[in-house]
Amino acid sequence: MKLDEMRPRRRITTEAIEQARLKALRALEVLDSSPELEFTDLVVEAARSVGGGVGIISLVDADRIWIKAHSGLKVSTMPRAGAFCDVTIRSDGPLVVCDSAVDPRFVSPQDEAERPAIRAYLGQPLVLSCGARIGALSVIDQAPRQWTEDDVAAIGRFARVAARLLEARRDEREYRRALETVAELNLQNDQAETAFAAMGEGVILQDRDSVILHYNASAARLLGLSEDALLGRSSMDPSWSLVDEDGAPLGVDQQPSMVCLRTGQPVLGFVLGVNLPEGGRRWLSINSLPVFRGDEETPFRTVTTFADITETRRQAQALQAALEEARRANQAKSDFLANVSHELRTPLNGIISMAGAIARTPLDARQREMIDLIVSSGTSLEQIVSDLLDISKIEAGEVQVEAAPFHLGELVRAVTGLFGSRAADKGLEYSVDVPAVAERMLLGDSLKIRQILSNLVSNAVKFTTRGTVSIDLSVEESATAGVFDLAIAVRDSGVGIAPEHQAAVFDRFQQADLSTTRRFGGTGLGLAISRALAERMGGTITLASAPGYGSTFTLGLSLPG
Ligand code: ADP
Repeated sequence: MKLDEMRPRRRITTEAIEQARLKALRALEVLDSSPELEFTDLVVEAARSVGGGVGIISLVDADRIWIKAHSGLKVSTMPRAGAFCDVTIRSDGPLVVCDSAVDPRFVSPQDEAERPAIRAYLGQPLVLSCGARIGALSVIDQAPRQWTEDDVAAIGRFARVAARLLEARRDEREYRRALETVAELNLQNDQAETAFAAMGEGVILQDRDSVILHYNASAARLLGLSEDALLGRSSMDPSWSLVDEDGAPLGVDQQPSMVCLRTGQPVLGFVLGVNLPEGGRRWLSINSLPVFRGDEETPFRTVTTFADITETRRQAQALQAALEEARRANQAKSDFLANVSHELRTPLNGIISMAGAIARTPLDARQREMIDLIVSSGTSLEQIVSDLLDISKIEAGEVQVEAAPFHLGELVRAVTGLFGSRAADKGLEYSVDVPAVAERMLLGDSLKIRQILSNLVSNAVKFTTRGTVSIDLSVEESATAGVFDLAIAVRDSGVGIAPEHQAAVFDRFQQADLSTTRRFGGTGLGLAISRALAERMGGTITLASAPGYGSTFTLGLSLPG
């Protein structure tokens, strides 16, 4: 390799050394510090030992000279370039200048007036234990001087003492800081220990053999053991009596801390029961977390925390039992309702058909009125009984959805035709709009659609005393080819339903409010049945209503064409 190619590397190395030197200097934390008597004593003694002059301890910063101590100088800092002490730290030994005005190492001005103020200089580098040359201890004089070997040696000794003193100051500071850190750590540790001891949750720390190393008072209390009994005990101790969530004995391998040790994964929210030494069982929810050391693959410890969930679990079980009991009672009621409705239907049919037969015989006006009342009461009773049967079937999940071809336009006209005269009797405007696109065959359960529509139109007429009832049909081809989206909207200008009652009208036996029952009668089953049937067919019933303005119930269905 040629010399030229080596040059850049050497420069980098010099720079690196300078950086390391500055780092060592800064670590002393001495630059710009206050004067210290010990350093001043040193320079005074140094100057005296060589028989006069000014003693100086100067430190070479990146681009300035900073003076730590002197025995009589006006300046405390000066530029680094050209300073004697910078020259001192660049060579291996001391810098000895007897007369700078004639010394060939320095520029010698011809003019007397330009001669340097410092004519004599004796400087020894301040070398730290790491080898860094951070400044110099020197003696200067305004007159030329002949330095002796003794002078050079003496200043060398003073420089060594100064360097050691600087290091001693630094070490002392570091030691003090370390002490403060230890005190702070101790405090933090004490706080953590206090929190640990005061925690309501149990905490145990186990080593890689599952031996308990550390635990808090709650751990002992929750496990029903004395604190002494816990220390040193391992998960493998045969005297543990643990059960899993279902009450079956829990094997050692299944214990959360063992699983955590084996897999290196946290185990969270694990529920187990502890059979307490004094009898009884305590349920715990456990989290076990692995602790790794360095890059090791297997955990070196586990931290397990556990909370008492006995009471929560008891409440959950009681709630479950109560829910089960309520479900059973509800089932019994539904069965009863279904049986009673079924048993009512036969005699009711007998009454209605016999009353119908009597109606066809010659009767006087009073008798006809009474028979008509029997027939109309019987018919509404039959409707109620059939609603009850429907709801029982829906609840028992016995409703089947058929798919058969039917004509949509005809179905809508047939159903709405049933209520036209009732609307007319009430003086309502009644309109049915079936667009041309609805004149088509679709595949679906026409009976159920009929039942829903009858119910919606019947309600609209029932709850409207003046104005209009209109049935609008919209049919669109859906995104799925061959399927049609229907929306059958039944609109009325009747009493309307308050927003807070709108969700409840779809619940069984629910009416918008008690005055409705008094005014219009009914059981509150129609909409519950309608929505359940619509949902069984994959459809929806939605409601938009404002009290006093009317309601719109819309049946939405998607059916293949
Ligand atoms: P029922 O009509 O037998 O009471 P429904 O389930 O059909 O039972 O209706 C439940 C309640 O919803 C009704 O009692 C009534 O308060 C309210 N409701 C239903 N339809 C309408 C309507 N078109 N306008 C106003 N209120 C209605």
